[in-house]
Amino acid sequence: MNIHEYQAKELLRQEGLPVLRGKVAFSVEEAVAAWSELAAPLVAVKAQIHAGGRGAGHFQDDRQGKGGVRICKSQDEVERAATSMLGHVLVTKQTGKNGKRVGRLYIEEGGAIERELYLSLLVDRSKASVAVIASASGGMDIEEVAAKTPERIVQTHIGIDGFKAWQARKIAFALGLQKDTVKEFARLLQKLVGVFRQRDAALVEINPLVVQPDGKLLVMDAKMSFDDNALFRQQELESLRDKEEEEPSEREANAVGLSYIKLDGDIACMVNGAGLAMATMDIVQHFGGEPANFLDVGGGADKERVETAFGIILKDKAVKAILVNIFGGIMRCDVIAEGIVAAAQSLDVHVPLVVRLQGTNFEQGKDILARSKLNLTAAETLSDAAQKAVAAARQS
Ligand code: GDP
Ligand code: MN
Repeated sequence: MNIHEYQAKELLRQEGLPVLRGKVAFSVEEAVAAWSELAAPLVAVKAQIHAGGRGAGHFQDDRQGKGGVRICKSQDEVERAATSMLGHVLVTKQTGKNGKRVGRLYIEEGGAIERELYLSLLVDRSKASVAVIASASGGMDIEEVAAKTPERIVQTHIGIDGFKAWQARKIAFALGLQKDTVKEFARLLQKLVGVFRQRDAALVEINPLVVQPDGKLLVMDAKMSFDDNALFRQQELESLRDKEEEEPSEREANAVGLSYIKLDGDIACMVNGAGLAMATMDIVQHFGGEPANFLDVGGGADKERVETAFGIILKDKAVKAILVNIFGGIMRCDVIAEGIVAAAQSLDVHVPLVVRLQGTNFEQGKDILARSKLNLTAAETLSDAAQKAVAAARQS
């Protein structure tokens, strides 16, 4: 689960990290009120979306001006910035071409910048630990730094016995910080490691971490996401969820216990078991297709779930073919077949359907499908099914 910058900053503030004063605003009036309350010589008006690259982003409608981060020196400027951002679609390197609608703003007092650093913590699965990544080239895309000037990135991992002060100091020296700032940096990083652990975070990214002219550090941007599997013990984070940021179809699927993730392709996949779903997506790609989604109907899927799954798939206008790949283990193929028939009868299945059933009662399942007179293509093997689905999507 992702949260907004202002929410992440609030969590960091509670742990004693240096963040500036700011206020969230859901309307132009609230933005103007925030300007008055902050009573600062200048403020940054920042679009709150679950994506980075806002500063360098642009609005879908060019008339809204440039960038999702704007420095304003008067009430008038705040009002204009807020008016042009709220309700409009911001496109950044991280949003994809469809962008994200700005529903809230963060109005933050301005901070002086001497240097911009990069600092992040993230779960590194390959090392089975948490990676600490820092760079002297802050304020810009870390992917770009990694590609062009990899020597400007320092990386270390948190050991099984915890993060050590010397590790923090080593990073600080690599960043070329002054003596007093080294101490402050080490303390800040220790606190950050604490928050990361305590909150079951998957990522904490501070870009930029600012060195002010007086040598003091400042968290000027913050991005945080959490391990969904740990949310059960992080109940208070639930209130930070922004439903506007979540794909409506993914929400609908989660509510009935389906694991669904929308993707950019045109071949919908309906599969039982996450591993089989991954394999199905791989093989679709292998034969030149692009999956429209990841969908695991679960080991104990019943008729209703299969119907719901079809409904969700069919709402995606990009879908040109549906590939059903079910291995009947605990789940029986005849039950799935009944679900497919019921769904096809109650919903308008307007795209080609390729079905592969294997395992328990697959003969009965095939029989049910054949007798239904549904317009579908049966497949024997997974590669046969994938090729048929790719061909069907190309034709429709
Ligand atoms: P991002 O583009 O989504 O990563 O948004 P950021 O919060 O990182 O803002 C982009 C850039 O705007 C930062 O790297 C800073 O250079 C600049 N910026 C943000 N807030 C302030 C501020 O309060 N004062 C000044 N001078 N610059 C700011
Ligand atoms: Mn940033």
